[in-house]
Amino acid sequence: MNTSADPAAIGIDLGATHIRAAIVAADGTVSSVVRHALPADAAARRQAAANVALHLLARHPDRWIHAIGLAVAGTIADGVLTSSTNLGMQAVDYRSEIHAATGRATTVLNDAHAAATAEARLVDGARTATILMVTVGTGIGGGLVINGALHTGTGDAGEIGHVVVDPGGPSCGCGRRGCWEQVAGGLALDAAASDEARADPGGRIAAIAGDRHPGAADLARAAAEGDSAAMGVVARHAGLFAAGLDNVCAVVAPHVLILGGGIMARPGPIRDAYLAATRTLRWHQGDVRPANLGDNAGMIGAAQAAWDNSRCRAGG
Ligand SMILES: [Zn+2]
Repeated sequence: MNTSADPAAIGIDLGATHIRAAIVAADGTVSSVVRHALPADAAARRQAAANVALHLLARHPDRWIHAIGLAVAGTIADGVLTSSTNLGMQAVDYRSEIHAATGRATTVLNDAHAAATAEARLVDGARTATILMVTVGTGIGGGLVINGALHTGTGDAGEIGHVVVDPGGPSCGCGRRGCWEQVAGGLALDAAASDEARADPGGRIAAIAGDRHPGAADLARAAAEGDSAAMGVVARHAGLFAAGLDNVCAVVAPHVLILGGGIMARPGPIRDAYLAATRTLRWHQGDVRPANLGDNAGMIGAAQAAWDNSRCRAGG
């Protein structure tokens, strides 16, 4: 049990549609979770992170909250969100803005990096291991933690979703074609379900979707029912998932591979096929495990990064 005298940090996860925040103790214990939809107004969106921090500080005047960590879906350089396609923001100096608003030292990092930081700490022997976290959601992201430290390189390390798997494949927002997330991420599964329903309007995927635009959930349901077309689409994407993962593992050679994100969190034929594909890899025979922290990973990792950047370390 944490007492009010124990130092804590605020962790914030600023996603594409929602903001989530909590008070995180040194041991990773989360309390006072706040989650709400982001406002549509651009200025209010930008302010949302500082506002949620102020809200938590005001609500818990008894807690010794000395640092704030912010995880954002975007590219970060030196505390500045340089660009975020998801949030439609660029050049936001979050570190300075939140520090100015709250008076607390603030650390800003990419959301996939934050999630990798938190998940890697749960691995025994993490201080001497190479741990690769792969997040399969609408796209594919990741983070690499080497000997207990997040590897960022010049800032974008871990943008593994942009490893090219099919040079003739669909074009990607990054400017290249056939990036891993374009052929094996959640949006790729949505597109495949839609294509399949269009090609076969009398088929099972089209029937399940009905009036809705067909998506990955319809594909999964059709495959679970044993529909051969749907099972074929899932198998093809699982193969592409494995191809990209093998490329990354060949470079990184992780001791432990952690799989997270919405696609991996949803039980069913897609997750089963993707997991089965990880057992066919040429370049990784090591440990494969599911992510443990779910939607809390980003804010916990952000708070832990804030801890690491502050002078007041756990137990210190
Ligand atoms: Zn790309």
